[in-house]
Amino acid sequence: MSKTVFEKPFTQQEAIPAAGIEHAVEVLRSGRLHRYNTLPGETSEAALLEREYAQWQGAKYCLACASGGYALHIALKAAGLKPGDAVLSNAFTLAPVPGAIDNAGGRAVLVEIDENYRVDLAHLEAQMAESGARFFLLSHMRGHVADMDAIVSLCDRFGVTLIEDCAHTMGAAWNGRRSGNFGRVACFSTQTYKHMNSGEGGLLTTDDDQVIARAIVYSGSYMLYERHGTLPEPSAFAAVRLDTPNYSGRMDNLRAAILRAQLPALEDNCHRWNERYAALAERLATNPAIQLPRRPAQETMVGSSLQFRVPGLDERTIPDFISACAARGVELKWFGGAEPHGFTSRYDSWHYLDNDQHLPRTLEILATTFDLRIPLTFDVADMAVIGEIIDDEVNAAAGN
Ligand SMILES: *Cc1c(COP(=O)(O)O)cnc(C)c1O
Repeated sequence: MSKTVFEKPFTQQEAIPAAGIEHAVEVLRSGRLHRYNTLPGETSEAALLEREYAQWQGAKYCLACASGGYALHIALKAAGLKPGDAVLSNAFTLAPVPGAIDNAGGRAVLVEIDENYRVDLAHLEAQMAESGARFFLLSHMRGHVADMDAIVSLCDRFGVTLIEDCAHTMGAAWNGRRSGNFGRVACFSTQTYKHMNSGEGGLLTTDDDQVIARAIVYSGSYMLYERHGTLPEPSAFAAVRLDTPNYSGRMDNLRAAILRAQLPALEDNCHRWNERYAALAERLATNPAIQLPRRPAQETMVGSSLQFRVPGLDERTIPDFISACAARGVELKWFGGAEPHGFTSRYDSWHYLDNDQHLPRTLEILATTFDLRIPLTFDVADMAVIGEIIDDEVNAAAGN
């Protein structure tokens, strides 16, 4: 009997909604692509996006900028990071996170994760006490939201400023409060593989007048900051306008137009991801060799990717398991590989960090962790096929 093969590509996104395409064409026809290139009385697409996203997120202010990594960089600077300052961050994340810390002049101090891919709270507390760090850049990696009540209370106790990397949690929540509304600043990415797609792009949100004023000037506003979509009192700019360098990283009107058209569908898309996640998780859960992360009741997740562990596999059997899945059309990423691959890298391959950091628990968990993207071009029925292939190949690899 021939084996089932899955035919759809794992990297194909849905088309930009028709309204977004029309809107983009209007911007192109106008020629006014730069966010400060407005007619008298006109509000730019970028400024409108800032208003609409701030409202959706439930934040006072939003800044649209060049990328998620760029937003993280200026968020750290706007929150007051000084050269050489220690920045706590979970060890399981993607390379733009330590990259942003480095770019802002900080020193990443890594924190362990637990078997559910969330930051390890006991280790976080120990690192807060030991490092004296004044900043915690929490990456909600792969959409796993840690206990935000506990994290906020630890940050308060140690006088640590919390910055949230919400690249994977746009639309997620903890206890009914949106991810990104717990720290002093939050950063989102609108790069193609995230929850809204403008190719590249970033959104920064905050309720803090000083932070938004600095972030706007950092982003390259020149003295045109008054044209932004969400503004603090003019006095906030008076305090920072001449002391804040221009790190040119604006969003243009074309991307903003594309994003504005996607925002109304975001909530519904989150449900669509979750339906697909649930179907796949249900299928994988039938195999006792596969461990799925526990999702706490307080978490409103967005299942745009799925992680699972197969503790019965090891570095000798894993490459064949991955190849066998790939041969049947299922693209798995492995976070345990010693060599970085594609978008995936482990903290010990970031050689520019302080190199004497050892996170044995994180390495142990990642050693048998697999990850797959759930693009919305897959339908719910596809998830049963993917689940069957993984289930088969886990059994074959574990010799069942
Ligand atoms: C994508 C991503 C970023 C950075 O976003 P870009 O827009 O690609 O710069 C930051 N953190 C995580 C966890 C990401 O996945």
